[in-house]
Amino acid sequence: VLALQGDFARHLSVVRSLGVSAIPVTLPEHLDGLEALLLPGGESTTMLKLMESNGLREPLASFVRSRPVLGTCAGLILLATEASALPHSSFGVLDVTVERNAYGRQIDSFSAPLEVPVLEAAGGAGFHGVFIRAPRIRRVGSGVEVVAWRAPGAGGRGEGAGREPVGVRHGRVVGLAFHPELTADLRLHAWFLTAVAGLRVAAADLAHRPSFAAAMPGARA
Ligand code: GLN
Repeated sequence: VLALQGDFARHLSVVRSLGVSAIPVTLPEHLDGLEALLLPGGESTTMLKLMESNGLREPLASFVRSRPVLGTCAGLILLATEASALPHSSFGVLDVTVERNAYGRQIDSFSAPLEVPVLEAAGGAGFHGVFIRAPRIRRVGSGVEVVAWRAPGAGGRGEGAGREPVGVRHGRVVGLAFHPELTADLRLHAWFLTAVAGLRVAAADLAHRPSFAAAMPGARA
């Protein structure tokens, strides 16, 4: 889990609770031997500046070109081919255009029910999305699969908008506009680790337990 800034600690604990070992990545050598990478939410501009200054930029760019990666919120921004107002270019491995902060400011953060076809195909229910100064996915490139949709009129700024993509996948690269690590629902992490990264997870209790509200006040964006 990239651990320069943001809510990497929650991702580390979710991955570990699924029985998969995980380490915080702060230096290039930490990438050696990793099977997959998670880019957390936080502040994409800060992460880009920090990775430029500590030598992580090129090693990360080459990792995300060849290995499974999950980016959430700011992490999605880092993966996108086009993102508004960034100080350095993003990695450009996921063909989507994202508009940063397009749902509004911190105070406009919201949670909303999502349709997640990859979970529903496995017989599960939808997912509760927590959005904190989230990027809005404005364009989805050809060959990019939508793995999560925000239902029409589902709360938050932009209410009344039609169904819109909030999670996308292109091969081994997955980007989510929301924060699955801030819910008690482990299914999206389990799906990424197994279906995308080809790892095995412990038979955990993945049941939908929407205790996201308790996590919201501590969230950082
Ligand atoms: N607004 C942040 C950015 O532009 C993303 C917020 C988040 O990751 N929760 O990087």
